[in-house]
Amino acid sequence: MTEQEMWQAVLNNDAGYDGVFFYAVKTTGIYCRPSCKSKPPKKENICFFETSEQARKAGFRPCKRCRSDLIDYQPMKQIAEDVKCKIEKVYREQADLCKKLNEVGITGRRLADIFKDEYGMTPKAYADHLRLAEAKRLLKDTDKKVIDIAYSVGFGSLSAFYSFFKKEEKITPSEYRRESKNKKKTGDFRHE
Ligand SMILES: [Zn+2]
Repeated sequence: MTEQEMWQAVLNNDAGYDGVFFYAVKTTGIYCRPSCKSKPPKKENICFFETSEQARKAGFRPCKRCRSDLIDYQPMKQIAEDVKCKIEKVYREQADLCKKLNEVGITGRRLADIFKDEYGMTPKAYADHLRLAEAKRLLKDTDKKVIDIAYSVGFGSLSAFYSFFKKEEKITPSEYRRESKNKKKTGDFRHE
């Protein structure tokens, strides 16, 4: 995380960063969590710490307002979990997904690394995985038009959906639907 990103989080009182880092104000000798509602300090007067312990060791006192002493280092795991929840909520809308991930405030590349460490795939791959599972469910269990399914899982066009689906499943959505309906009829669907 760059200083600029941390400074931005302080200006935004961004609770998403609580525990990720702390900032201390040299003129007051107090350290805060990013979400602290106290008046934003001057940029030249602050310094950043990863943990509340580091801030204390450097001689700063915890803030009485945000109780920066009650929270400690938030593991990357937590960030990865938050991102996972966000993706699960918004994966159906691609534009929204980007926005939600931007809200986490960490740059795309770094976020992808954190997420990958935890779940073995990038946030994008995870969103794609959810989209595919949902599309398959809709193809199998509903009679919705393929184009409607494409839109409802976040694709802007039928052709984008087709090429995505074909790449993942090696067959087209319509073929997939036909196959799963046939399986249903012959009764061996459960054994898939
Ligand atoms: Zn504070």
